[in-house]
Amino acid sequence: MGSEPDPSPDSTEADATEADATGAGTTEADATPAVELDGVTKRYGDTAAVDDVSLRVRDGEFFTLVGPSGCGKTTTLRLIAGFEEPTAGEIRFSGESVAGVPPEDRDVGVVFQNYALFPHMTVGENVGYGLNFADPPEGVTRDERVAELLDLVDLPDAADRDPESLSGGQQQRVAMARALAPGPDLLLLDEPMSALDAQLRERLRVQVRKIQSELSITTVYVTHDQEEALAISDRVAVMRDGRPEQVAPPRTVYREPSSRFVAEFVGDNNVFAGRVVDVEAGAVEGDGPESDVAPRTAGVDVGGETLRVGVGGEGGDSLAPGDRLTFCVRPEYLRIAEGKSRLTATVASAEFLGETTRVTLDRGGRDLVVRTRDPLSGEVVVGFDPEDAHVIGVDET
Ligand code: ATP
Repeated sequence: MGSEPDPSPDSTEADATEADATGAGTTEADATPAVELDGVTKRYGDTAAVDDVSLRVRDGEFFTLVGPSGCGKTTTLRLIAGFEEPTAGEIRFSGESVAGVPPEDRDVGVVFQNYALFPHMTVGENVGYGLNFADPPEGVTRDERVAELLDLVDLPDAADRDPESLSGGQQQRVAMARALAPGPDLLLLDEPMSALDAQLRERLRVQVRKIQSELSITTVYVTHDQEEALAISDRVAVMRDGRPEQVAPPRTVYREPSSRFVAEFVGDNNVFAGRVVDVEAGAVEGDGPESDVAPRTAGVDVGGETLRVGVGGEGGDSLAPGDRLTFCVRPEYLRIAEGKSRLTATVASAEFLGETTRVTLDRGGRDLVVRTRDPLSGEVVVGFDPEDAHVIGVDET
């Protein structure tokens, strides 16, 4: 029977604990979510762009939808914004259904990839345009509100400038100020940085996160860039074929991917599969009350070499010889001639990245990726420690 760990279709208590530790808004896992998708499907003809999605976004959270092209990220965002209505299922804001509520009545600010600033208006007028849909807070004039927002996005002197005289990153900050002007409850950002170059993207993502934190505004962010998703979010939903495959804080998605797809989509990874040859109970390390029990490990035959893999987590308890195990080891945990589990491979190519070199090794026709500071060539032995392997799935015999 296959017992691949369930992909988490929605937030779990464990996620809530880790998200809280990283400062993600609500501390109670069962507090009313700011945004909730309940069995939401959106079909275009035969295509289910969004396929029975259930998700909860917490109040004040920075929540990111990430995934390859066509996985349904933008459609999910458009459904939340109200530009599309679901074919099935319900969307709730703070517990209230928004079915039939038009976008302008949803209290959402939206920023798209192409800044969409009005070229015939100054920067200040563009931001002020956002105030056509809601009055400034009481006691604050329109001009004061515009100045406040330009301060927030770190463009205090730009009010009289022509938008086209600004850089792409600055224009995108103006677009954010305009979206935030009416004081929305929810900020929706659809690939806001994809038109910018890499350096600008890195700078802007720090600024976007800072603005979001200052306002504590619930934010749903769409990107296809997994690094950006990890860097900016409280939690990430990795989407595939119209559904979230894993929903978790960035560290969990990176270290404990729930499936092979997530393991390979998020960052470099080395995925192995093989038959279990033995299972060892964890040895007691040290003596006395402070002693630790090391996690259980399994010996796994991968292409003729037995690799020891930590199996303390899911699927570990019932594991038996003959079972087929899939696991992954991040390149940073594969070390040259070190580690308890060792395997031999041949250098196929190397990319010098400055701080490290990313080396692709060939092992019996399969690629392995390591990161190293030293030049490598020919045949090399690489290894990892059992606890640095993460089990993705078990097929019991
Ligand atoms: P990308 O990163 O390329 O923008 P995405 O993850 O945002 O992709 P969506 O734009 O949500 O994906 O599209 C999901 C699927 O739905 C795709 O197969 C797309 O072709 C289809 N789709 C989206 N909008 C429409 C539409 N208006 N009519 C028909 N099909 C659509």
